[in-house]
Amino acid sequence: MIQSLLIANRGEIACRIIRTARDMGIRTVAVYSDADAKALHVREADEAVHIGPSPARESYLVGEKIIAAAKATGAEAIHPGYGFLSENAGFAQAVADAGLIWVGPKPSSIKAMGLKDAAKKLMADAGVPVTPGYMGENQDPAFLAEQAAQIGYPVLIKAVAGGGGKGMRKVDSAADFADALASCQREAAASFGNDHVLIEKYILTPRHIEVQVFGDTHGNVVHLFERDCSLQRRHQKVIEEAPAPGMDEATRAELCAAAVRAAKAVDYVGAGTIEFIADASEGLRADRIWFMEMNTRLQVEHPVTEEITGVDLVEWQLRIASGEALPLTQDQLAINGWAMEARLYAEDPARGFLPSIGTLELFQLPEQLGRIDTGVCEGAEVSPFYDPMIAKVIAWGEDRDEARAMLTDMLDDSAIWPVKTNSAFLIAALNHPDFVAGSLDTGLIGRDGDSMTAEPMPSEQALTNAAMAMLPRSLQSGFRLNAPAVRSAPFLLDGRRVDVRLHGPGAAEPAPAMLVAESGAVWQLMPWRAQGSAGGAAGDGAILSPMPGKIIAVDVSVGDMVSKGQKLLTLEAMKMEHSLTAPFDGVVAELNASAGAQVQVEALLARIDAETE
Ligand code: ADP
Ligand code: ADP
Ligand code: MG
Repeated sequence: MIQSLLIANRGEIACRIIRTARDMGIRTVAVYSDADAKALHVREADEAVHIGPSPARESYLVGEKIIAAAKATGAEAIHPGYGFLSENAGFAQAVADAGLIWVGPKPSSIKAMGLKDAAKKLMADAGVPVTPGYMGENQDPAFLAEQAAQIGYPVLIKAVAGGGGKGMRKVDSAADFADALASCQREAAASFGNDHVLIEKYILTPRHIEVQVFGDTHGNVVHLFERDCSLQRRHQKVIEEAPAPGMDEATRAELCAAAVRAAKAVDYVGAGTIEFIADASEGLRADRIWFMEMNTRLQVEHPVTEEITGVDLVEWQLRIASGEALPLTQDQLAINGWAMEARLYAEDPARGFLPSIGTLELFQLPEQLGRIDTGVCEGAEVSPFYDPMIAKVIAWGEDRDEARAMLTDMLDDSAIWPVKTNSAFLIAALNHPDFVAGSLDTGLIGRDGDSMTAEPMPSEQALTNAAMAMLPRSLQSGFRLNAPAVRSAPFLLDGRRVDVRLHGPGAAEPAPAMLVAESGAVWQLMPWRAQGSAGGAAGDGAILSPMPGKIIAVDVSVGDMVSKGQKLLTLEAMKMEHSLTAPFDGVVAELNASAGAQVQVEALLARIDAETE
């Protein structure tokens, strides 16, 4: 067995791997960038090595620095986690060449599945059904447009090197093809350094179903059943569950057998996931499920599989990397109950899901109700440099309803501030009638998202309770003794005016501020008189850059009338395009943005003045 392990990652997955390694008596070594000097994964590891500046390309993505750190600390093996270098065949090879153990598949397997076009060809040859489409070399825009017409709209343009739901565009008609192709290629070049694309038939009523597979160095391959990751926003997973709703035994057997065939075709060793897309217009049917891609690593959503099988997948990875055979045979694996995971992000659904950065002054999650995989704790910083996922909240139940109710409760009990999270959005998604009924598809959030992204507001009762608690003690008890005289007083709730019903007499001097937590959201409540010190809070029409980035498009000019929600400009940051929109109807009073400009976090990009008659 491996005695010491370096984890070439950060955040929740680094902490997750350290936990199992520690339980197995393996010494752990963390690596960290400038921004992560005080991060949880650094504190939890036995040792930690600084590997450079905050941007990942200068630290977590520099293979030589990571191998040097392993050598310097005497670590025997390297676990890549997910993302970063986990699917980099060159790095896996360099690790082996340095005489270290790579906790993952052979470089040749990673390579075979690395590009989506080549992987699809390989799978088709192995008898695994693949999504119909064009996956050739010719990248001429006119030729690709012809291919799209032949496949038949709608089609999906995909970066062959893509991942994380990026570099993908659904196109509904020929008229939109050229623009979508250009934008997809631009994102692919920026994110993956490769602008090649493939074109696929867009599957209608699509469900994302994937199978966890595991191979060892003795030639055995097993599957650990399926996960359903159909609840997505812009092709990125939001909520995942296992097993898949509506999956019958015969379909499951056929699907999992295809996944094992796929893994064997690339001589697979370690943990991997075969992702399929299903046309669920008439339920799940084996002849309507096609191979999409293979992820040659541990998956973000692996905990739901762990919860229903009782297997610690990281332990299996470490045993297999040490040369052991798979701990269980296929016959010894079974599904027990239902598990559901929600990805908790530091982002603001009401503002186009912009990442929300800053200090986690308050960070409370109910660990007694289920499983929380996180890489942060109270006082930690959410920095603009990395993926803003701050925790995975995982619930288990005897059946789907129980798991769903438990996950809702867990999110309901979360309290995070002042960083915004998608908690209320997740609760709304979990309770959407179609999701409740298990009749989900990947378009659900796109269709009904508006009802889930509304800015959460505290109930009148919660506001009254909080405001009363801000009053001096004498007045609080006073209202209970006397008959409650109800009056209304102005307060500031996260910078905007609300009138709160209060009991008892007026003229009290309330405390300067208080937090209100309800249904997974947290607000700051202040007396109205303190508004001067509230600064340029939301509501004043200032459009600030939410993070450092580059302006790639400006859609308005000074003097333009704009309506609430209208797109003002596009910012490219954290490798993604973000739209900044008007907070209310008004006129563009100020504009400090031009296409191509680099901007700092909090830079004033524009100001909207409210419409006045
Ligand atoms: P998984 O398939 O493991 O659930 P995803 O498909 O969501 O993960 O994402 C694929 C990979 O892209 C993951 O390894 C994840 O680390 C990475 N990733 C996801 N979102 C982002 C992001 N916003 N920025 C950078 N990397 C990301
Ligand atoms: P990534 O590497 O970014 O994870 P995938 O190929 O796995 O890319 O696709 C990501 C998501 O895009 C899928 O989970 C699914 O929701 C959607 N998708 C992919 N291919 C298709 C398709 N042919 N038809 C409909 N939806 C698709
Ligand atoms: Mg995928």
